[in-house]
Amino acid sequence: MKNVPELFGCMVFDDSAMKARLPKETYQSLRRTIADGKHLDLSVANVVANAMKDWATEKGATHFTHWFQPMTGITAEKHDSFISPSSDGKVIMEFSGKELVRGESDASSFPSGGLRATFEARGYTAWDPTSYAFIKDHTLCIPTAFCSYGGEALDKKTPLLRSMEAVNRQALRLLKLFGVDDVTSVKTTVGPEQEYFLIDQEVYNKRPDLFYTGRTLFGAKAPKGQELEDHYFGSIKPRIAAFMEDLDEELWKLGILAKTEHNETAPAQHELAPIFTTTNIAADHNQLTMELMKKVAQKHGLVCLLHEKPFAGVNGSGKHNNWSLSTNTGVNLLEPGDTPAENAQFLLFLCAVIKAVDDYQDLLRVSVATAGNDHRLGSNEAPPAIVSIFVGSDLNEILESIDKDTTYTAPEKIQMKIGVHTLPRFPKDTTDRNRTSPFAFTGNKFEFRMPGSSLSVSGVNMVLNTAVAEELKQFADALENTEDFKTALHTLIKKTIHEHKRIIFNGNGYDEAWVKEATQVRGLLNLKTTPDAMPYFIHEKNVRLFAEHKVFSPAETLSRYEILTDNYCKLITIEALTMLSMVRTAYLPALSKCGKQLAEAALTKKQFVQTADCSYEESIVTRLSVLTGKICKKTEVLDSAMAELSKAEDATRKAQFIRDRILGAMNELRTAVDEAETICDKQLWPFPSYGDLLFSVK
Ligand code: ADP
Ligand code: MG
Repeated sequence: MKNVPELFGCMVFDDSAMKARLPKETYQSLRRTIADGKHLDLSVANVVANAMKDWATEKGATHFTHWFQPMTGITAEKHDSFISPSSDGKVIMEFSGKELVRGESDASSFPSGGLRATFEARGYTAWDPTSYAFIKDHTLCIPTAFCSYGGEALDKKTPLLRSMEAVNRQALRLLKLFGVDDVTSVKTTVGPEQEYFLIDQEVYNKRPDLFYTGRTLFGAKAPKGQELEDHYFGSIKPRIAAFMEDLDEELWKLGILAKTEHNETAPAQHELAPIFTTTNIAADHNQLTMELMKKVAQKHGLVCLLHEKPFAGVNGSGKHNNWSLSTNTGVNLLEPGDTPAENAQFLLFLCAVIKAVDDYQDLLRVSVATAGNDHRLGSNEAPPAIVSIFVGSDLNEILESIDKDTTYTAPEKIQMKIGVHTLPRFPKDTTDRNRTSPFAFTGNKFEFRMPGSSLSVSGVNMVLNTAVAEELKQFADALENTEDFKTALHTLIKKTIHEHKRIIFNGNGYDEAWVKEATQVRGLLNLKTTPDAMPYFIHEKNVRLFAEHKVFSPAETLSRYEILTDNYCKLITIEALTMLSMVRTAYLPALSKCGKQLAEAALTKKQFVQTADCSYEESIVTRLSVLTGKICKKTEVLDSAMAELSKAEDATRKAQFIRDRILGAMNELRTAVDEAETICDKQLWPFPSYGDLLFSVK
């Protein structure tokens, strides 16, 4: 048996390691930096660096790296060894405070979305002391932010940290109004539930679409999919169980609170949920989790697919972003309280989120817009592309009664006066789970269900935090310096509910009627694809929002837009080119061979028996020749569309062209090939089938 408490965090230079290894004064100075963001003195950094190096080398580390999250969506690291030559011709292991807090990095090899043209190509990485250093592959990893020399953010962590700071600033203003004076910081918390697929390495290696693009671009449905609902929470196969055990262990070593592992809806699909933590740490941990999932899978002869939609016809994978606000005194601000004041405070923060989601539904949609996620949203397996909030029937009734000045009936008849009445006890909506809602209140947190499985949670939370910070700011502006706080509060909450209740929807998000009601009656946005959603990112109101809260300068906002749009176009281009290559070099030759084989078989039969029944051969050869003709034509259509795409001037036009011309051509080509797969000789079919892939782990 493993000693989990001993194992947990053993590869992390966490609080206990710091306490044990740092002189008391250094430790306290570092704690102040971590808790309040105080500047870290270089002399302190030198002591910390040395202690870190000793700790790391004792655990077998030979190198260190500044570990950061560039806009590529994955993490980046550049390894340097600790060695330093000594006078006797040998080496000593060294690590300075300067090396700890700041690193140089050539920014020109990372996407910067035009920032590079205006600013220097050099970039630097700066230690985020709120996220502990850890050891991975014999390397001491220092979590860092990545910026240009002008201070422009080139990564995903910097804006996330800035957005957390914005929430902190505004939330503290409000708490002060409620007379809460023991709170010195408010942080957002996140628990991201991670879905993924595991398939056998050998079959994976035979699918170029999987290794170039992460998803299958072709494949006829297997006779069995997820219809029997026999996989969800089903018993876990031994090979998968061994993987999960190994993964948990690796995650625990890194201090990642992996908690729940189970099978998901689709065959070969699974989920891991960690216990929530501070947002920037949760984001770091989620990146590490994804990386380790891939690595550990490899050790077990498996491949972990994190793509949002690796297989057509069965569910794709999401990443539910559970989010809340927590004070340094341990109070969850989205937890309904016991006293009238606590309740009023809860309702105010709840209203801030409701208003934020309504005002910035476009940005939230953009924050989850990727080529992969476009296959999920709105396709009756994941939330629709329309953003709305589920609050459950009980809380909804309370909000309605405040809005309409009517009495709330259950469990007792009261007319809520905020700040005077205690909220009626309403049950947490755990059973009445509305799985079709993109943004659900689940008792003491919100669960944002739109993010795709491969997405970094940084962007999503950066948007959510900034939008909430803006509403908190508006509330604080309205409530500070009022003569009668309680009345002003009541009026503000009532007004907010009234003006923003259009975003609350407790019904079935998969229902066609909802799309109509949302767009035609409520005026909500339905941004179906990434090219539809992306341009909203640079709408004036959103550029202003980011600038106001110092999350992005207008130039940074524009650069993000360009990077994300460009990335979308590149991904689809890779997919289309992979399709063309698979069709031309494998599918068409296989189909031609199959036709030839059957035609020859029929001829041979007839040589023996003139009246032989060749209806099988004849019918298949006929169908195959029609299909190969069709596939050939569709290939040319896609090919010439790709040629046209390369002429589009900028990323925005390219993305639109992809939406209007390329995606349809890709779909049509796939449909024809998938149909051919159902009649072609399996021996001749060049790639493993859906059945081979989805049921590859026995
Ligand atoms: P359920 O299974 O009902 O969704 P869980 O308690 O299992 O509820 O939570 C699901 C995820 O939400 C977990 O990752 C959990 O850590 C996270 N979570 C719970 N409370 C919070 C919170 N206050 N802030 C952020 N995430 C939270
Ligand atoms: Mg959940």
